[in-house]
Amino acid sequence: MANTRSKPGARQVPSQELERLRAELAESEETLRAIRSGEVDALVVSTAQGEQVYTLKGADEAYRILLEELTEGALTISADGIILYANTSFANFTRTPLEKIIGSRFEDLVQAADRDSYFSLLSHGRSARARGMIRLSAGDGSTVPALLSVSALPAESASTWCIVATDMTDQIKSQEALQKANEELELKVRQRTENLAKANEELARSNSELQSFAYVASHDLREPLRTISGFLELLQMDYGDKLDQKSKDYISRAVNASTRLHEMIDDLLSYSRLETRKRVFTRVDLNGVCQAALNDLNRAIEENGAKIEVKTLPTVMADELQIPIVFRNLIDNAIKFHDKTVPEIVISATRDESEWLISVKDNGIGIDPVNQRKIFEMFKRLHSRDEYPGSGIGLAMCKKIVERHGGRIWVKSSIGNGSIFFFTLPSNLA
Ligand code: ADP
Repeated sequence: MANTRSKPGARQVPSQELERLRAELAESEETLRAIRSGEVDALVVSTAQGEQVYTLKGADEAYRILLEELTEGALTISADGIILYANTSFANFTRTPLEKIIGSRFEDLVQAADRDSYFSLLSHGRSARARGMIRLSAGDGSTVPALLSVSALPAESASTWCIVATDMTDQIKSQEALQKANEELELKVRQRTENLAKANEELARSNSELQSFAYVASHDLREPLRTISGFLELLQMDYGDKLDQKSKDYISRAVNASTRLHEMIDDLLSYSRLETRKRVFTRVDLNGVCQAALNDLNRAIEENGAKIEVKTLPTVMADELQIPIVFRNLIDNAIKFHDKTVPEIVISATRDESEWLISVKDNGIGIDPVNQRKIFEMFKRLHSRDEYPGSGIGLAMCKKIVERHGGRIWVKSSIGNGSIFFFTLPSNLA
C-alpha cells in the first residue's frame, strides 16, 4: 500500500480490486500494442451475445506502420460494425483514447442524425468505394465533421470494411470563412452598384435638365437680343449724324457686344443640340469627311499658305453630321494658331486594338501644358479675339462629339513646338 495515496473524498478502492484493474489495464495495453504491431492475428470482443473472436488477417507490420504515419484516420471494421483497428490519427481527431475506440461500434461514434448516411455508405462501399460526410461525436463532446471513404475488403477477410476518415474541421472552417467573405464582397458590390446606378440616374437627370435649360435659355434669349440690336441699328441710322463721337463710340461698342452675344447664344444652341440629337451611327469614310472639311476651309488654307498632308483614314461607325464638326474645328485651329511660320499640318490615323487613334498635328504656337485641359471647356480661350479670332466653343464641341462616339480627345503640346490633337473612335464597324 506504500504507493497508494488516497485523496479526501476519493473512493477507497480495495487493494485486490486495484491490482485486478491494473492487471486488466496492462493486459489491454499489451493487446493494443500487439494488434497495432501485428503480433496478434485475432481479437476477442465481449458482446451481449458472449465473446466473439475476430481474426486479423493481413496483419502485416509494414502496413500497420504506414497506417500509423497517416494524418487521416484509418480503421477496419467487422461485418457487424465493430472497430477492429484504428490508427492514432483517428484517436487524435476524435479526441477519444484508442483503447476505447477499438472493440466499440463505429456507428456509436456517428451522430444520430447521420447514422442512416453512414449505413448507406457501408452498403455502397460493398461494391465500390463510397464517400460521404458524416458528423462524429468526439470524446470531449464536440462534433467532428469527417469525410469517410469506405471500401469493402475481400470476402474472406474478418474485417469487412476499411474506412479512411479525414477530419474536415479546418476545411469547413475555411470554406465558411471564404463563403462569408464572398457574401460580404457580394453585398458590397451590390451596394456599390446600387449607389452607382443612383448616381448615374441623378447625373442623367441633371444632364438632361441642363440640356433643356441651355436650349431654352439660348432659344429664348435670342428674341430680346434681336430687339436690342434692332434699336441700336435704328439709333445709328436715325440719329447717327446728330450724335457726338463719344456717343457713336458707345453705340458701336453696344452693337459689337450684342453681335458677340448673338454668336455665343448660337454656339450654346449648337452645343446643346449635339446632345439632344438622336444617336444615329452609320459607316462614315473619314477620308471623305476630311476632304469636305478642307474644301470648307479652302479660303483660310489659301490665305495662310497652309500645307496639309492627309494620310489614309479609316471608315468608322459615326454620326455623319457630327464627326465633320470635329475635323473642321481641329483643322481650322491648326491653320489659325500660328505666328510667322507657314502652317504645316499632318492628319493621320493608326489602329490601336479596339480603336482608331486619329491625330491632327501642326507646327503652330503650341499650348502650355497647364492649359491643356482647360481649352476643352466651353468658351475657354487662351488669346484675345484681336490676336486670334474665335469663340472658344470649337474644342468643347469636339470633346462632346468624340465622347458621344465612345472616344477620348486630348492634346500633346508645348509652347513654341506645335500641337498634336488626338482623338479615338471605336474601330468595330458592327
Ligand atoms: P477657338 O478656336 O474659337 O478659340 P477652341 O475651343 O477651338 O476655340 O479652342 C480653344 C482655345 O484652345 C483656343 O482659343 C486656343 O487658345 C487653343 N487652341 C486650340 N487649338 C490650338 C492649336 N492648334 N494651337 C494652339 N492653340 C490652340
